[in-house]
Amino acid sequence: MTHDSALERLRGGAEPRNHDARTIAALTANPGCARRGIMDAAGVDKDAVARRLGFPAPFGQSQFAITRGNAFEAQVKADGCAELLTLLRDRLGLDVPEVAYDDLEVVAGNESRELRHARTRRLLERALSSGEGTLFDHPLLRLDIAGQPAYLEPDVIAFQLGGRFHIIEIKSFAVIDGQAEPEQVAAAARQSAVYVLALRRLLEELGAPAERVSHEVFLVCPENFSNRPTATPLDVRPQLAVLGRQLARLTRVEQIVGGLPDDLTFELEAEELPDAVRTVEARYAPECMASCEMAFFCRDEARACGGTGVLGKAVRDDLGGVDSIGTALALADGSLDPSPDLAETAERLRTAARLRREALTA
Ligand code: SF4
Repeated sequence: MTHDSALERLRGGAEPRNHDARTIAALTANPGCARRGIMDAAGVDKDAVARRLGFPAPFGQSQFAITRGNAFEAQVKADGCAELLTLLRDRLGLDVPEVAYDDLEVVAGNESRELRHARTRRLLERALSSGEGTLFDHPLLRLDIAGQPAYLEPDVIAFQLGGRFHIIEIKSFAVIDGQAEPEQVAAAARQSAVYVLALRRLLEELGAPAERVSHEVFLVCPENFSNRPTATPLDVRPQLAVLGRQLARLTRVEQIVGGLPDDLTFELEAEELPDAVRTVEARYAPECMASCEMAFFCRDEARACGGTGVLGKAVRDDLGGVDSIGTALALADGSLDPSPDLAETAERLRTAARLRREALTA
């Protein structure tokens, strides 16, 4: 069976689900999870699978947050991005000269993704050769994910300055006294890295060096409970490195497929769906709750088998090869003799248990 037909069988014949920047960025949140890797590579609708298994994940923004986000974005982009340009010039001290603004969202009333992507290519090619164009709104980019082209939702601006492109991401979460919620900033950095990578791939296709897309992106958010925008530069090199590794791993998904039963399918109507999902190894961690549609199912499974992953990635990594909480407790109270490779971990667990006893006694 070919690789493509194996992936089609895993999807149960359904159409592959498209990725977007959020789903691609989420791949980097738990790169070691074979279950997620295989489901994403096959384009399985994880949300539908989770619902069918009785573990729906309440993902997505509230209507209020969406409306607020849209209003803020419209404000920043009004009048050819007037407010955005003021920000870039004044706050960041950037010398932005004469400005040209191209909105790539609709091509002559036709919104097909292929046409919009072709127009993005054309305008960026012109910008590369002539330096023309400053702000490219809604560029439609494309990235290959496990051999499937993924079009990326256009909610960013590509900004050209001095022959280099920067990604500008507009988010509606607030920056208060110069600080924003770290998790939201981290998620924005991961998503921006996806755009940087996709724009780099496009420039390479056009014969330009990838470095002409900067690893520094600008995050534009409302400031201090007002609607006034503020811009913060973000270095996304760490996120780019993780993303590159994870995408490379996805292309080797054939190896995971090769180790699975020949008749395995995630077909939604199949009675064996729960068993089929459990066949593929997962690496649950609490971080999954913010990034994967399968999180409630995997958490339930991890709790039932007492896996150390439910205590968080840091604890799981600290415990090395100890996979279950029961084993960790038995090593800690000395009722289980450790194998040689777990001797050091067992020693640390016994020390921790002793310190806990002493603290409780004191
Ligand atoms: S929720 Fe499950 S499938 Fe998704 S990344 Fe976590 S362990 Fe893997």
